[in-house]
Amino acid sequence: MPTTALTAIGTLVTNDPALGDGPLGVRHDAAVVFEDATVVWVGDSADAPAADTGVDLGGRALLPGFVESHSHLVFAGDRAEEFAARMAGRPYGAGGIRTTIAATRAATDDELAANVRRLLDESVRAGSTTVECKSGYGQTVEDELRSVRIAGRFTDEVTLLAAHVPPPEYAGRADEYVTMVVEEMIPRCAPHARWIDVFCEQGAFDREQAHAVLSAGIAHGLVPRVHGNQLHQGPGVRLAVELGAASVDHVVHVEQADIDALAGSDTVATLLPGADFSTRNSYPGARALLDAGVTVALGADCNPGTSYTTSLPFCIALAVREMRMTPDEAVWAATAGGARALRRTDVGALTPGARADAVALDAPSYLHLAYRPGVPLISQVWRGGALVHPN
Ligand SMILES: [Zn+2]
Repeated sequence: MPTTALTAIGTLVTNDPALGDGPLGVRHDAAVVFEDATVVWVGDSADAPAADTGVDLGGRALLPGFVESHSHLVFAGDRAEEFAARMAGRPYGAGGIRTTIAATRAATDDELAANVRRLLDESVRAGSTTVECKSGYGQTVEDELRSVRIAGRFTDEVTLLAAHVPPPEYAGRADEYVTMVVEEMIPRCAPHARWIDVFCEQGAFDREQAHAVLSAGIAHGLVPRVHGNQLHQGPGVRLAVELGAASVDHVVHVEQADIDALAGSDTVATLLPGADFSTRNSYPGARALLDAGVTVALGADCNPGTSYTTSLPFCIALAVREMRMTPDEAVWAATAGGARALRRTDVGALTPGARADAVALDAPSYLHLAYRPGVPLISQVWRGGALVHPN
């Protein structure tokens, strides 16, 4: 099988403490060898074995491809006007999602698939090599079914966001919507998804409704993840922990009992600072979570309403500047943390046996991701051993 040696890496992030310094397992003057789609060797550049193809990185930094564990890419339309109004002072509520539901229902399958393709191409250029994708802008059985099928053409990490917000035809009848989700939507859609998700928030779904949706998903073989505690302190975090969710996402408005519950669990707290940026929400208290021992991931939460970015480098910069994460913690959270949130052991690290997903920067160190915000530092991206950017 073909081998590729990436040599003269200025700073290498392996995310394996056994391979280098600190939790990131950092090495300098390093090399990595891929065989086909897998990492087979990591060491000093001077010792790199011969390979079919050699790539001299000239002192650039190399890190694992970013693992995006939270995105909403199956949609139509945009909400730029809503964003502008919000920046002019109108507050964000959960109801803006209905604007996108109307546009998505009116779109063709080809239009929706083209949108997913466009945003995935954009996220690869930003260094993401694994991307989870949610449904959630259909909120009918047929529209959710086509959403998860379209997502499944592009990724294995498909999430049925069955209960995002009660759609207009169920206004004031959220319980009836949940009954429909449990009895009809989940049985039809579950074969096409890996994950079940719910927006547990004032104006969306309460604890009891969210519990019913997640339990039905579990009964159909899906693994839960939860949108919780974004706009208000609420039951989302503890419901996620109680049901053994892989991740609870947002985690902005929490009390100590929420932090304690997460710290004693396997549930990852996925922080989405792009959403807080775009809604002028508070940023999550990442320091308190990390200091309590909670596993933290970073996601970009690409969606047309509240976080229309695919850039994890942007989120790393926000996490460092606004959430007091160290650059090392933020880089770990966007790579190994995302892998934990998706319960993946094959991505998020550059170690022998891992999938050959890597990002080279036009910079000597990963520190530049936060130090040089907004700058297009991603120079090359490999996914499964293949160069996918530039291509
Ligand atoms: Zn989301």
